[in-house]
Amino acid sequence: MLHAKPRAGLRARALPVLLMSAVAAAFGGLVALAPVEADRPAVLAYADVAPLVLDEPAVQERAQARASRDRRMDEQARAKAVAAAKAKAAVTAKAKAAAEAKAKAAAEAKAKAAAAARTKTLAKRAAASRGALRIAGRCPVPNASFTDTWGAARGGGRSHKGTDLLAPYGSPVYAVADGRIRNASSSNGGISLYLDADNGETYFYAHNSSNVVRGGRVEAGQLIARVGSTGNAGGTNHVHFEREVGGRSVNPYRFVRSIC
Ligand SMILES: [Zn+2]
Repeated sequence: MLHAKPRAGLRARALPVLLMSAVAAAFGGLVALAPVEADRPAVLAYADVAPLVLDEPAVQERAQARASRDRRMDEQARAKAVAAAKAKAAVTAKAKAAAEAKAKAAAEAKAKAAAAARTKTLAKRAAASRGALRIAGRCPVPNASFTDTWGAARGGGRSHKGTDLLAPYGSPVYAVADGRIRNASSSNGGISLYLDADNGETYFYAHNSSNVVRGGRVEAGQLIARVGSTGNAGGTNHVHFEREVGGRSVNPYRFVRSIC
């Protein structure tokens, strides 16, 4: 009895522990690690369940994180789209500016070309005019002295219709242009001639001492007469020079000035 008593006492203490262990084992596997202490398995079992409860906020957190990430991505996508739109607008604006600049440059180039064409035309006209003057541009009496006496009073109520080119007796008189000579001697003009030029104008030379050419074709610069004072020259050696344009007598002063 002495031996059995303490054994029965041990058995009595161990039984609840074993029972508890079995119960705890039914709830969670971790109990097996500490089967000798009665309190421990229960705590462990509780601890083993607790994370399932604690999982809920974690899921929410994850969901929130996901939502937040989605929001961030949305914002990033929106920002990206805005940036892309801005870039596109910038490109469009740049293209528009470039097109406008191009159009402006084209307009300027066109205006410049038109101005250049105008200048060219004017230069051409000026050259043609100079050419025409060159054709009719030989000085009739080189080194002659003359003034503008167009319209000055003359005897018999007449007015002066030409330019008087004063030069020594016998000085050479030249054709101012290519054309044909017509003899035109008269009492007033004395020994005179007409030059019907190829340029459509007619020139009249009067008071000559002699006509070297009495008719036919002459070239500009060709000797056609000599200075004198025949006709009503009043004793002054000179050529009374007239110019007719379109059949009308015009003041020859500027023309003579330009070619002598
Ligand atoms: Zn005269």
